Amino acid sequence: GTGRQTLVAGNWKMNLNHLEAIALVQKIAYDLKPAELETVETVIFPPFIDLRSVQTAIDGDKLAIGYGAQDLSPFDSGAHTGDVSGPMLAKLGCGYVIVGHSERRTDHHEDDALVAAKVAAAYRSGLTPIVCVGEHEDVRVAGNHVEHCLAQLEGSLAGLKPAQAKTVVIAYEPVWAIGTGRTASAQDAQDMCAALRERLAGLFDAELAAGIRVLYGGSVKASSAGELFTMPDVDGGLVGGASLVAEEFTAIVRSGP
Ligand code: PEP
Repeated sequence: GTGRQTLVAGNWKMNLNHLEAIALVQKIAYDLKPAELETVETVIFPPFIDLRSVQTAIDGDKLAIGYGAQDLSPFDSGAHTGDVSGPMLAKLGCGYVIVGHSERRTDHHEDDALVAAKVAAAYRSGLTPIVCVGEHEDVRVAGNHVEHCLAQLEGSLAGLKPAQAKTVVIAYEPVWAIGTGRTASAQDAQDMCAALRERLAGLFDAELAAGIRVLYGGSVKASSAGELFTMPDVDGGLVGGASLVAEEFTAIVRSGP
């Protein structure tokens, strides 16, 4: 997209122990040249328990690869057994956090209000949230996908201040495309990303919305990334399965801008 730096985010989901995580970071770093990492912002999202190892690998070799978490608690500390807080992630050097991924909305019944509380928690700790929205297949078949995603966007960003909106990242991830191999067409991705940006312009203003990165996610591969990333309102990708294979992930990073 115009003037916006392409962002490629690798969501490892619940895969790789900390030793496997270190090995994958090293492979990615070995393959990508510093100039390539300067052109395309590259961020990986390992499981919580891998973050310390990933931090050590990235800091130790001063690698220009960012990292973040796949979720965070809406609370900053206290009696929330099993949860991980924004201050903990910030202390480990995380820059980003994924919020509202469809797998969390499904597995943990997260709704837009909880997602909005997590977005607020991210900003309290200086983390940039990547806020995910996307429709299930029946919603698209019924033709209600744009309306659905715009409502999710508004609900998930409720209470967000303009100064925060400036840095927020949105990911359009149609649920029917996640982990299925059925990538959305570049045109469908573009249409939704443009609709999301237009709503952001309505919620804030056009200039602010023009600076917000909107990603596409859902079975992005090296073979589809190039076309997706050239669409005017698609500013990069949130990549699941393909981010676990070093050669595939680095080829996706090379597909932008
Ligand atoms: C994701 O987890 O955000 C995702 C898009 O997964 P995949 O690339 O495997 O479809």
